[in-house]
Amino acid sequence: MAQVLEALLERNRDWSAKIRAEAPDYFDGLALQQTPEFLWIGCSDSRVPANVISGLAPGEVFVHRNVANVVHSSDMNLLSVLEFAVDTLKVRQIIICGHYGCGGVRAATEEDMPHGLADHWLEPIRRLAKRHAHELSKIGDIEMRRDRLAELNVLESVARVAETPILRRAWGRGDYPLLHGLIYGIRDGILRNLDCTISGTDAR
Ligand SMILES: [Zn+2]
Repeated sequence: MAQVLEALLERNRDWSAKIRAEAPDYFDGLALQQTPEFLWIGCSDSRVPANVISGLAPGEVFVHRNVANVVHSSDMNLLSVLEFAVDTLKVRQIIICGHYGCGGVRAATEEDMPHGLADHWLEPIRRLAKRHAHELSKIGDIEMRRDRLAELNVLESVARVAETPILRRAWGRGDYPLLHGLIYGIRDGILRNLDCTISGTDAR
């Protein structure tokens, strides 16, 4: 047990030393302030790490992740992150990122299998599946149907973030932040644009 943690700490020391060897002032700059361009709202899945898959360094992306990147309009955790990112950090781009093969989306479609608290958390996805039942029923393959539901979940989350007073206030001041919906393929490592970007102009 202790060896696993010790190995992690050793990797961290190696990483820190490597960064400092390449750029001696790197951590001094970051310690003063963070000015990320992006807020990322994504899934907690360990295969979808925001910084790694988007090629962004520490300091470049502010991150909120939860199971299946669900946006509950009363989630104080998400709303606090959103408000801080928009009003204080003044991020210019907000990315809602879902992914194919999402376990949370799968759980939301397994009606007869209990998942404990997750069943409460995933309720918006079940409702979404019912709302789009006609479209989804035309997709024969169950994995492809779930992947389409994962896309719909991103579109829904984008719409929900756009409706928050935080975004409406920001858009009252101008065009930014831009709000984007992406989906990530865990089989090919590619981020796809769902072409649902909203700016202040679009929202007015
Ligand atoms: Zn997921």
